[in-house]
Parts: sequence; C-alpha cells; structure tokens
Amino acid sequence: MKYQSLSERRADMSGVNIKRYGLYLIRWQLSTPILAGVLYALSGMDKINATVIANLIGGLIFYWVDMFIFTSDRLTVQWEVKDTVRCVDCGKEARGYRIIKAKEYDRTKDIHPQFRCEACSQKKTEELRQRGIEI
Ligand SMILES: [Zn+2]
Repeated sequence: MKYQSLSERRADMSGVNIKRYGLYLIRWQLSTPILAGVLYALSGMDKINATVIANLIGGLIFYWVDMFIFTSDRLTVQWEVKDTVRCVDCGKEARGYRIIKAKEYDRTKDIHPQFRCEACSQKKTEELRQRGIEI
C-alpha cells in the first residue's frame, strides 16, 4: 500500500490552497459578529440603511484581510510531513519534512523528494530564506 500523507492528499485537492481556503472560511465567521454588532448599534435606523452601513464597515475592514489571505507569499508555502524517513542531510531516521511549493520554488513534480529531520529542515529553511525564497 502506497503511503500517502494528509498533506499530499491536500495538495491534490484540485489545486486549492487549503490554508487560504481555511482562513477565508474563518474570516467569514469573523465578519458575522462585526456585522451583527453594527446592526445592533444601528437598530433604531431603517433596516436597509443599517445593512448598507454595516456592509460598508465590513468592506472597509475585510478588504485588507482578504488582500492578505489572497496575496500573502507565506500562505503559498506547502509542506509535506512523513512519519518516518531517512534525513537526506544527517541520515537520521525521524519524522521528515519537505517544502513542496513556495513562491519561486516548486517541487510538486519531484520524483526523488528529499525529506529532512526537524533540525536539518530548519537549517535548510534558513538557507532557502537567505537565497531569497519567501518561506
Ligand atoms: Zn537531519
């Protein structure tokens, strides 16, 4: 049986970035109390006008939140984690990590994926950051 990690399956999900999607769903939940609060504060006002104002306030706030969700490079980074691998750097058998995809870094079609233990993975991440890859 071919072992497939959760992050591998997630990466397959028709190209949807699961972190962005999750944040976007949470952001919708956050808009609920804000809009409800504004509507409550304006409860003396005509319902249509109060809704227009509540949506305007929501738009002023969530424009920036949505912009972050859809453009942040850090959210582009996709990791794959496997329970037991041999680290390509130190040879230790441990839980392994690798970056599948980041801005200007794509290992989605890598036929020999390189996993690293946590310590070596942190070193490698630092190295990639110094090369200007945003992770
Ligand atoms: Zn290692």
